[in-house]
Amino acid sequence: MEKTILIKNGTLVTMDKDNSIVKGELLIRGDRIESIGGATSSADVVIDAEGCAVLPGFVQTHVHLCQTLFRGAADDLALIDWLKKRVWPMEAAHNESSIRASARLGVAEMIKGGTTCALTIETVNHTAEAFRVVEETGFRATIGKCMMDKGDEVPSALHEETESSIAESLALLEEWHGRGRIRYCFAPRFAVSCTRELLESVARLARERGVMVHTHASENRTEIEMVESETGQRNVAYLHSLGITGQHVALAHCVHLDDAELGILAQTGTHVAHCPSSNLKLGSGIAPVKKMLERGISVSLGADGAPCNNRLDMFTEMRTAALLQKVSHDANVLPAGRALRMATIDGARALGLNQEIGSLEVGKRADVITVDLACLHSSPRPADIVSAIVYSAQASDVRTVVIDGQLVMHERELLTINEQEIIEEANREFASLIERAGLDG
Ligand SMILES: [Zn+2]
Repeated sequence: MEKTILIKNGTLVTMDKDNSIVKGELLIRGDRIESIGGATSSADVVIDAEGCAVLPGFVQTHVHLCQTLFRGAADDLALIDWLKKRVWPMEAAHNESSIRASARLGVAEMIKGGTTCALTIETVNHTAEAFRVVEETGFRATIGKCMMDKGDEVPSALHEETESSIAESLALLEEWHGRGRIRYCFAPRFAVSCTRELLESVARLARERGVMVHTHASENRTEIEMVESETGQRNVAYLHSLGITGQHVALAHCVHLDDAELGILAQTGTHVAHCPSSNLKLGSGIAPVKKMLERGISVSLGADGAPCNNRLDMFTEMRTAALLQKVSHDANVLPAGRALRMATIDGARALGLNQEIGSLEVGKRADVITVDLACLHSSPRPADIVSAIVYSAQASDVRTVVIDGQLVMHERELLTINEQEIIEEANREFASLIERAGLDG
């Protein structure tokens, strides 16, 4: 018999096409949602969600697990300096055990804050460790090895030959893509770090193999000038000319776009991973999310990496995204309901997984969280539960997390990973890494 989990007494915020909110029970059998709103008497595990919202797990569409160890170690720098002075030297100093510590820290933090799935870009080396961590912890992820075969001031450990970058990516794809909750994506870092030849090969191989391309685009003005001076084209227009647009492509950031580029994203169904906290912290600017949504562009949310946020927390991103667009002096822009869709079903759609996850619907995979809305900062009892989730709740209000029918956090205790051990491991591994990198901690 397959194991059953019953979540009772909660309010189910389903995120289905009608945004249905249901008072009642949610029953999980095996890895699937079996019923919604019924009244079941027993199950193998019964979770009391009194005072809680029951939601689909959050889907973050832009994260770097390999960078979690660099939290607080690259503050107050703009993108290109942030990369050259801090992040690249630290990535170059990674070894297998520091990648493992970094990925474990990131996954644990995300689960604790209700994120059940992420689309990630790792570093150039040791990406297999990130896959192993996701497999062991019960997390769901689409992961890509970072590809970079061009650029001045790139540490030698990160500078790849075009052919070996492709060969290593294909080997990881063969080994990991489609293995349970894990999928592979091609992850060229950004146009500045990749030759035309590499990007063209990625465009072709992604289509042939049926996998995603996940890259950064048009985050920062200097980056756009660098691409423009070399190619004579705007960043997104250049990627489009090489075949790196389409429904299987997720572009992180897209802060600075001209009208033609907005048109390209809309026409091709390319997904934008909006990272509002990262864009603010790196001084990159404010992405034109209002315009994107008006043109029907798919926009979802991600925290990006710990060194540019410094949290990996979807509550922070939902709230920041919703507040940031209102700087236009229009308080109706990006209302709470839209921000919550970006954090759930729209993220699932960006990953091509909206038939499987992203909403609470019978037959979907059971990625489910409960969020306590009876805290001081969410009281009195909210009349609008969606508003309470987006504007009042915080990561520490998440009580229970189920991924693929497996209980991975119960009453805030992580069940697949030892929290104290991860913190100690992170401290130890960061101290060694910063010494190998020859940088100040
Ligand atoms: Zn990023």
